[in-house]
Amino acid sequence: MLPESQGSLAAIAGLLGLCVGSFLNVVIHRLPKMMEREWQNQCAELRGETAVDEAPLSLAKPRSRCPHCGHAISALENIPLFSYLLILRGKCSGCGQPISPRYPIVELISGLLSAYAAWHFGPTIQTAGALLLIWALIALSAIDLDTQLLPDSITLPLLWLGLAFNLTGAFANLSSAVVGAMAGYLALWSVFWLFKLATGKEGMGYGDFKLLAALGAWLGWQMLPAIILLSSIVGATVGIALIVAARHGRNVPIPFGPYLAAAGFIAIFWGDAITRSYLGLIA
Ligand SMILES: [Zn+2]
Repeated sequence: MLPESQGSLAAIAGLLGLCVGSFLNVVIHRLPKMMEREWQNQCAELRGETAVDEAPLSLAKPRSRCPHCGHAISALENIPLFSYLLILRGKCSGCGQPISPRYPIVELISGLLSAYAAWHFGPTIQTAGALLLIWALIALSAIDLDTQLLPDSITLPLLWLGLAFNLTGAFANLSSAVVGAMAGYLALWSVFWLFKLATGKEGMGYGDFKLLAALGAWLGWQMLPAIILLSSIVGATVGIALIVAARHGRNVPIPFGPYLAAAGFIAIFWGDAITRSYLGLIA
């Protein structure tokens, strides 16, 4: 492909990534609330009470509002990145309270990774797949950081989608993908039970197993050792830094999802090179 058309494809994907990033902010903010409400309704139903009746909440409704003053975000204030930096300058136009920088940060990460995916894979089915995987991983990381949850409503479709893309071998051949899904789940499930039997504590959640299963489905079982190694290195480094900085007690659970996601990003783009180099080291 010509460098110019590669550049314009990356630019289009980058803009698309910014807009999707804006939607991901809504998912990150609302999905845990929607799950919590559903659980409360189910508990109420079991107790024979009527369901908790509140204003309907979905990803589409109601419109986004300022959490401080309830000011409805107008279309002009909702342009990804641009509105935060140039129109709002980091403050709500209703009450002047600062808006969390995580909104533009999520949009920026989504935009940059989307542009890079299009640049890396060019006009192929792999770009489409990589974009979907990247967006899901961003949402999962942020939700895990906030709530220590990895919602099934994202991890399970992500797993099936990975198998679907690999029907034609977009990222791995189908048998590697199926084995990857199984081995990914079993690997962390075994670690969980060994850790629990040894220490009596639960070191991670079932969501982590499903996320690694999804990464195995997308990238094939061959990529799992690199993903586990990368996420453990990054996780241990950050974890030790937090303990040293005394901002985290030793017993406060550190979410593992963001590290798995970060390792997933690295594996999508450079996994082949990493696997080849360590297989080379063994041989
Ligand atoms: Zn406000």
